[in-house]
Amino acid sequence: MKVEDVKSSQQAIDLEDKYGAHNYHPLPAVLKKGEGVFVWDVEGKKYYDFLSAYSAVNQGHCHPRIVGAMSKQAGTITLTSRAFHNNVLGVFEKYATEYFNFDKLLPMNTGAEAVETAIKICRKWAYEKKGIAETEAQIVVFENNFHGRTTTIISFSNDEGARKNFGPYTPGFIKIAYDDTASLEKVLSDNKNIAGVLVEPIQGEAGVYTPQDSFIPEVKRLCNENEVLFMADEIQTGIARTGALLAVCGKCNCQGHCERQPTYSRPDLLILGKALSGGAYPVSAVLADDTIMEVIQPGQHGSTFGGNPVAAAVAMEALEVVKDEQLAQNARALGNLFRSELQKYIDQSSIVNLVRGRGLLNAIVINDTEDSSTAWKICMALKENGLLAKPTHGNIIRFAPPLVINKEQLLDCVSIIKNTLKEFEK
Ligand SMILES: *Cc1c(COP(=O)(O)O)cnc(C)c1O
Repeated sequence: MKVEDVKSSQQAIDLEDKYGAHNYHPLPAVLKKGEGVFVWDVEGKKYYDFLSAYSAVNQGHCHPRIVGAMSKQAGTITLTSRAFHNNVLGVFEKYATEYFNFDKLLPMNTGAEAVETAIKICRKWAYEKKGIAETEAQIVVFENNFHGRTTTIISFSNDEGARKNFGPYTPGFIKIAYDDTASLEKVLSDNKNIAGVLVEPIQGEAGVYTPQDSFIPEVKRLCNENEVLFMADEIQTGIARTGALLAVCGKCNCQGHCERQPTYSRPDLLILGKALSGGAYPVSAVLADDTIMEVIQPGQHGSTFGGNPVAAAVAMEALEVVKDEQLAQNARALGNLFRSELQKYIDQSSIVNLVRGRGLLNAIVINDTEDSSTAWKICMALKENGLLAKPTHGNIIRFAPPLVINKEQLLDCVSIIKNTLKEFEK
């Protein structure tokens, strides 16, 4: 059977159902083509993409510059392994470290691998630099976190589906309430073996749960005061999504190099993935300064594909596009417009309780129980009306279009969303 033989969405769904593991529950949209903010299904129906592959496609589908960089490199050399050098990796590392203002970068492929990498660096730093007794290091994490799917990462999740029957779990993590500075202060003063704090600046998977503006700066301050590494998982929030280059930039208006801005909470370990490649290829990375990164020596960490020349070429172009097209500024302006337009609707709605988020990472909370199917039904109706979004955590719908969306398109989407919600008002 050939891909060209797939003539209908149902046929594609049936194939996945029969031959694929059932580890996802997708909306029944079978996408065949993407360009900018749009995707098309097998039948040729056109949709606005309001998920952007969980914020991986910030630069828009099939960005010609990113695809161009990828195919050029793919026709030259794709993989050398790190047993040898390649002529692209160092150029990418120089580019990305200057872009984010860190001394060094460690390249991986997926987000979960980058989180694992940060955990390993943090523990090693704790034993070799901070002087914590070996195997005693603890890392503070937060309730309702999402950091990926490896056995260690799900060990500190509190999502039943992600955890149940995957034990025994990796020890060494202390979980406290999110957006609760007092709890963090207490755990840091009660426990002298804490090596780091791993935090999402906005909890994307938990439903775009957006903390108070003071939370991340307080995490940063408490980490500094307690000689603990501040690890920011910006895999979903980073790379212009929240209207700044990084969500830890807070509400500063600059495009990168936020060092000089008072709102910038500089992480000790910055974790990136998803939009680092504009969704073209799996690329992730951890960035840190020398005093931290130097704990990793040859043979102590690695990945066959990490830092391959295609990944390096794609990531460099993807970051360049973010700057050239001013995607952070666009996300900021259109995000404000999106929330204020939806707020007007919500003021007189009985089906939606609230809209929240920052930049173009937003969500609405549906006025129904967490186990209700209302959000799913609304997403099915949105699909009918030409907009793809996915429920997260039962009654929450995330709205995260590619950041290349323009004002006219955004307002068109606002009316699709409003008209769809109207069908559900009681
Ligand atoms: C998506 C995501 C991850 C995991 O990335 P994968 O590439 O799926 O392994 C980790 N952390 C956050 C915040 C994410 O959104």
